[in-house]
Amino acid sequence: MSTLNPLLLQTLAASGGNANSSIQEMLLSQLGDQDPTVSLLAKYLTQNQANDEEEEEEEEDDDASIQSTQEAEATYSQELEAAQVRNQKLVNIARQLWQELEDLDSELEDLRDRNDALAQALGACHLCWGEDLACEVCHGQGYPGSFPADPDMYRQYVTPAVQRLQRSRGVRGAGGANARFNHG
Ligand SMILES: [Zn+2]
Repeated sequence: MSTLNPLLLQTLAASGGNANSSIQEMLLSQLGDQDPTVSLLAKYLTQNQANDEEEEEEEEDDDASIQSTQEAEATYSQELEAAQVRNQKLVNIARQLWQELEDLDSELEDLRDRNDALAQALGACHLCWGEDLACEVCHGQGYPGSFPADPDMYRQYVTPAVQRLQRSRGVRGAGGANARFNHG
């Protein structure tokens, strides 16, 4: 170390490692040719500087990575929240549709029961009332009166209507059909 140029040491000390690298390199390369120790020092300093730069780049990379991760998390959080809102809307729609479906099913069941009761009361095909030639029950022949009517159903559904009609018209002879079924 005794051969190190004091000027070089002063320059290096003043630079604090952050001096213009071209000055360092110039001085070191000149002195390094003369002294192996200086040459090693030059290599060490150059390597050290390179490492510092790499560490700074890594820190910048880390900062960028953290920022990028935070942005990704924020975006993910927003998308998740939006997806949850959409999901809740779909759940509400599905519940509403399911309720409407249950209501329709219940109403359809009531209407079928009433249809079947009236078809029995009038002796008609409960599927098509004689209006469908392809009907598997009556082949289009199941109009009212084509089957034996159910007397109880007839009294429940038809008799009151016939009586009301007779009263309103003052007609007595209209009970032909009524008499046929109302013999109970
Ligand atoms: Zn039919």
